[in-house]
Order: sequence, then structure tokens, then C-alpha cells
Amino acid sequence: NPFAQAAYALSAHQLEQLPDDSGLEIAFAGRSNAGKSSAINAICDHVGLARTSKTPGRTQQLVVFTMDSSRRLIDLPGYGYAEVPQKLRDHWRLLIDKYLRIRDSLRGIVLIMDARHPLKEFDQQMLTFCAAIDLPCHCLITKADKLTFSEGQKTLATVKKQITAISEHASAQLFSSSKKTGVEEARKQLGLWLGI
Ligand code: GDP
Repeated sequence: NPFAQAAYALSAHQLEQLPDDSGLEIAFAGRSNAGKSSAINAICDHVGLARTSKTPGRTQQLVVFTMDSSRRLIDLPGYGYAEVPQKLRDHWRLLIDKYLRIRDSLRGIVLIMDARHPLKEFDQQMLTFCAAIDLPCHCLITKADKLTFSEGQKTLATVKKQITAISEHASAQLFSSSKKTGVEEARKQLGLWLGI
């Protein structure tokens, strides 16, 4: 598992603080509490790599994990903390949009959604934005362990239908960090983007 090499590199408050824009990069996005940190940890097979803390201050950064000299994973700030003022939320939204637009090394977005509440407004906005800039987006419908098998299949079918209406570069799969389901499928997609 090449993702097991991922190690914490730095946290950036501004885009200027990111590593040189060379090589290949994948960014993880999602509403806060969707299960993004847990998904990163499951994919990298590393408990505690991404902090599963709920403290807004700590997560409002772009966290960079390096896999090797030319491959990186970026944990984007979780979106939608009620306790974060609207002005700060707008600031982060603009920063994320700018990051998505200008980052040449960015190969794709992993969008994390809670299987019980998929495709909320933020998710749709993210998909629309990615479609507008031709950026591939792979949706992890996580916490799938909270659904029965048939509920999961139904949710997956609905999400696939909705996302393909938004973007031709969007894909989706079921995932569970606690049950470790869908982890290999996710690694395969990310591996394609990273050329591994
Ligand atoms: P983040 O805010 O998006 O980074 O979300 P976290 O990874 O911190 O997870 C939020 C909450 O959901 C935590 O209480 C996790 O234990 C829980 N959680 C995350 N992934 C899963 C999963 O696959 N299954 C279940 N049942 N719970 C999960």
C-alpha cells in the first residue's frame, strides 16, 4: 500500500505556504463530521494521521501529507462548522476555490459524504465547481456501515445518477472507515490519479 508512506508535512493557512506546485496531488474535501479524517486514515492505514478532532481552529488549514518526493495528499478544511462565523467561512470557501483553480499538480478531489446525508449543498457546489474546471471528483459515500446492504446500493445508485448529471468526471463508491470497506477501491482510483 503506497499510501501507507504518507506522512504529515505541514499545515498551511495560506496558499503561499504550500509546497512547490510540482508533482502530483490529491485533495480531500467534505462537510465537517462527514468522516474525512477517518477516511484519510483508513486509506493510509495510519490511525491518527489526519486528526479526527472537532476543534474548528485546528482543522481550518490545508494539511499536507507527503507520500514521496512527487506525491502529496491535501486535507482541505472541513466545511460547515456552525460555530465558525460566516465571514471566516466565506474566507475559507474562497481560499479552497482558489486552491482548486490554481493548483497545477492537483489531479483530483476526493469528496467525502456521510451515507445518511449525501449530496448536501456543499457537495453539490464542490461537484459543480470541479466540473467547471474539469477536475475529476471521486465521491466516498462513507459510514456505509450505518446502512443495510440494500440501502447502501440504493444510495449509491441515486448518488451516481445525481453526480453524473453535474459532472462527467465524477465517480462514487461506498466506503466505511470503521469496517474498512471500499478502501482498496478508493486506493485504486487515487492510485490512477497519482500514477501508481
Ligand atoms: P471529519 O470531521 O470529516 O474529519 O470526520 P471524522 O473522521 O472526524 O469523523 C466524524 C465522526 O464520524 C467520528 O465520530 C467518527 O468516529 C465517525 N465516523 C467516521 N467514519 C466512520 C465510518 O466509516 N463509520 C462509522 N460508523 N462512523 C464513522
